[in-house]
Amino acid sequence: MSKTNVVIEQTEKYGAHNYHPLPIVISKAEGVWVHDPEGNKYLDMLSAYSALNQGHRHPRIIQALKDQADKVTLTSRAFYNDQLGEFYEKLSAVTGKEMILPMNTGAEAVETALKAVRRWAYDVKKVPENQAEIIVCEGNFHGRTVTVTSFSSAEEYRRGFGPFTPGFKIIPYGDIEALKQAITPNTAAFMLEPIQGEAGIIIPQDGFLKQAQEVCKANNVLLVSDEIQTGFGRTGKMFASDWEGVVPDMYIMGKALGGGVFPISAVAADKEILSVFEPGSHGSTFGGNPLGCAVAIAAMDVLADEGLVQRSLEMGAYFMEKLGEINNPIIKEIRGRGLFIGLELTTAARPYCEKLKGLGLLCKETHETTIRFAPPLVISREDLDWAIDRIKQVLHVT
Ligand code: PLP
Repeated sequence: MSKTNVVIEQTEKYGAHNYHPLPIVISKAEGVWVHDPEGNKYLDMLSAYSALNQGHRHPRIIQALKDQADKVTLTSRAFYNDQLGEFYEKLSAVTGKEMILPMNTGAEAVETALKAVRRWAYDVKKVPENQAEIIVCEGNFHGRTVTVTSFSSAEEYRRGFGPFTPGFKIIPYGDIEALKQAITPNTAAFMLEPIQGEAGIIIPQDGFLKQAQEVCKANNVLLVSDEIQTGFGRTGKMFASDWEGVVPDMYIMGKALGGGVFPISAVAADKEILSVFEPGSHGSTFGGNPLGCAVAIAAMDVLADEGLVQRSLEMGAYFMEKLGEINNPIIKEIRGRGLFIGLELTTAARPYCEKLKGLGLLCKETHETTIRFAPPLVISREDLDWAIDRIKQVLHVT
């Protein structure tokens, strides 16, 4: 039996089946390319759900990891460490926000945001105790904890996990009238993905983010942007909110903040919001650890020094144009910004992802009928041409 088959059998035998991976084992990776144990090479067009914006094993990020591993890896927050301050300062400059709160995973950062806006509602806005409401959108994906799945509109994310956390209202994505109607004096925040990733790269109508910001401001409601998947250049801007010139009250970040090397997440907001936390009210043993901070500092430096945000914009436009040349009536819509692109079919997308895998291109379906293309932002035009060639072989009809 091949090494690949042995690994898959072992993984399926001993692991919970909470994922449905394509049958490929990745044992080595560099830049945009990954290898299986048999030495076959594949182009990674998923980037670990946008956590690998800087590419696999970026040398500067790996060097930062190694250097820090030789010094100190974990202190807990019982003590200061010499990486956390610099990480805060850099992320504060990137977001334009006064304060940062670090966690590890995306879902934890979302939980942090929810706690922050609830406290803000009670302490600052003076909402009556336990009455705070948070508005979210249909089709949202903000993670997998019980509270976060409490306001998911997808039955498969929720079934069997109740009782759920109350205090959330769901409105249709991109519906400004619904937002206005959902707001009450007890509304703490409106939390959204500026482009919905897991729902299938859904871009709200032009102007929605801006209007949402105005409505929130007029009603003393915080606008919280979950940029975990869309942040750090993925959409051709530093943050997807930038597409409408919107600066939310709070950013939630994760994934590419750790350069695909180490899990690190954070929320960023001004003092008025984040100073609701006093010692003991929130935290995480590994949150703000020096290894993660050193990696995140390097990850942000790479993004800036290599102009990856602009690269995403240019390469994304090129790739979208090339996809548009493919002639096939099963292509329902091609949508995206930067290198965050969804190709929606009129039929199931999974068989096409499997065929592409056979040709050396890795991508994954999202919500049945959409293929998501989100390669590392370091991808070259030549590699995109190589990908288009394979996609044409699978999809083009003459
Ligand atoms: N929020 C968004 C927008 C995401 O795309 C994701 C993950 O895909 C999360 C939150 C959850 O992040 P994590 O898987 O790191 O908990």
